Amino acid sequence: MLKVYNTLTRKKEDFVPIDEKCVRMYSCGPTVYSYAHIGNLRTYVFMDLIRRVLRYDGYKIKGVMNITDVGHLLSDGDEGEDKMAKAAREQKKTPWEIAAYYTDVFFKDIDALNIGRPEIIAKATEHIPEMIEFVQALQEKGYAYEITDGIYYDIGKFPSYGKLSGQVLDEKEAGARVEENSEKRHPADFALWKKADKNHIMQWPSPWGMGFPGWHIECSAMSRKYLGETFDIHSGGIDAVPVHHENEIAQNEARAGKKTVNYWMHGEFMMVDGGKMSKSLGNVYTIAQLRDMGYDPLDFRFFCLNAHYRKKLNFTFEGMTAAKTSRERIMATLYQHKVSPVKTDETVLNDYKNKFSEAINDDLNIPLALGVLFNMLKEPKSKDVYELALQFDKVFGLSFDKATAPKQDAPKDDIPQEVLDLVQKRADAKKAKDFALADAIRGQIAELGYIVKDTREGAVVTKQ
Ligand code: AMP
Ligand code: ZN
Repeated sequence: MLKVYNTLTRKKEDFVPIDEKCVRMYSCGPTVYSYAHIGNLRTYVFMDLIRRVLRYDGYKIKGVMNITDVGHLLSDGDEGEDKMAKAAREQKKTPWEIAAYYTDVFFKDIDALNIGRPEIIAKATEHIPEMIEFVQALQEKGYAYEITDGIYYDIGKFPSYGKLSGQVLDEKEAGARVEENSEKRHPADFALWKKADKNHIMQWPSPWGMGFPGWHIECSAMSRKYLGETFDIHSGGIDAVPVHHENEIAQNEARAGKKTVNYWMHGEFMMVDGGKMSKSLGNVYTIAQLRDMGYDPLDFRFFCLNAHYRKKLNFTFEGMTAAKTSRERIMATLYQHKVSPVKTDETVLNDYKNKFSEAINDDLNIPLALGVLFNMLKEPKSKDVYELALQFDKVFGLSFDKATAPKQDAPKDDIPQEVLDLVQKRADAKKAKDFALADAIRGQIAELGYIVKDTREGAVVTKQ
C-alpha cells in the first residue's frame, strides 16, 4: 500500500485514489521567463518520481502541468512587474517569444533528465476564458470584490484560509507591509484579475475591461477544467505552500463548497553550499552548465535521487562528482550482470523486489530503494539481476537499459592512410597469389614503422 505525506494533514496517509483505476494529479509547472535552474529541476524530478511510483504500483495517471506564461508577478503576491514582461523588456523580445524560447529549453532539460511528460500541458495564456469564468463564479458566490486596479479574493469570507501552512490570519495581517493597497479589505486578499493600463503588453478583454489574470487563478481554472472539481494529488515546490497553494485552496473550495484536493505533496528545496541559490550569489546552475563541466544530466538525476524529497538537498561539486562516479560504477556492474548467463534463485530476487516496493511505497523513499539496488548488484553476476534492475529503473529513470561494455582505450596512434593503402595493396596481391609482391609490400610497411600480421579476422597492423 502506498503511503504519502500530506502537507495538509501533516501526516503520512494511505493513498486511496478517487477513481481506483486512474489517478488525477496536478503539478505546478514553470514560469517560462528564464532557464530552469537545478533547484527548479529537483522539483520536477520529484514530481516525476510520484508519477513513476504510481505507475510501478499499476495506476494509470491523468496528469496536468501548467506553463505559466502570464500573471506571475515579481513577488508571489500582487506586486511588481510581470516576470514575462520584465524578461521581454530586458531581452528586447515579445513575451510570446520569451515564453516560446524558454518553454522549449524547459522540455529539452526535462527530457535529458528522463522526466516523463504529464498527459496534459496547459499554457496559462490559452486558458483566459476559463479563468474569467472562474472569477465570475467566485464573484457570484460573494468571494470576490472589485476595486480600482482589479478583482480581489476576499479571504475574510474563507475562515479556514491558511490551513495548508498553518498560518493564522492575524499573523498575516501583522506581517503585511505598510505600502499595501489600501482599497483591499484584508492585506492578504489577492488579485484574481488585474486591470491593465495601455502600456501593459499582455492583456485580454474581460467583464471588468482589459486586463490579465492573477497567477493563482490559473492553476484553479486549469485543474478544474482537466481534472474536475475533485482530484487526488496536487504537487509543487515547498515555497508554493504559504501563498500560491493557500490561494488555490481558497479559490477551489469557495467555488466547489468542499475539499477539492485529497493529497498535497511538496518537494523540499535544493541549497548550494548550504545556502540559498540565487543569481546574485552566482551559484545558480543550469543543466547546460553542468554538461559543459563534463556531467551527464543523469548524474544530476542520480544526485537528486540520493536524498528524500522532503529533505533539503545541498548541492556541491564534490557531491556531483561522487554521483557521477557512483552512477558510472552502477552502469558498469549492470553490464556485467547483463552478459552473465548464470541464474539467480527466485526467492532471492523476490526478496529484493519486496524490499524495493516497501521503500518506494513508504512516501517515495528512493534513497532506501537505491540501497536495495546496491545490495542486489553485489549478488553473483546474473542476467536475472539485470532484468530486475530494469524493473526498478521504471522508478529510478536512470536508463539502465543503456548499460554497455566499458569503453576500450582508444588506439594510441591512428594508422596513417599511406600504411592502410599498402595493407590493401598487399591483400590484393595475396588474393592474386603474387606472394613475392605481397612480401615486398610487407617490407615497405615495415620501413614505415608498422607490422602487418595475418589473422583469421584478416590483416592487423600495429606500430613497431
Ligand atoms: P518558477 O519557475 O520560478 O515558478 O519555479 C518553478 C519551481 O521550482 C517551483 O515549483 C518552485 O517551488 C521550485 N523551486 C524554486 N527554487 C527551488 C530550489 N532552490 N529548490 C527546489 N525547488 C525550487
Ligand atoms: Zn500552481
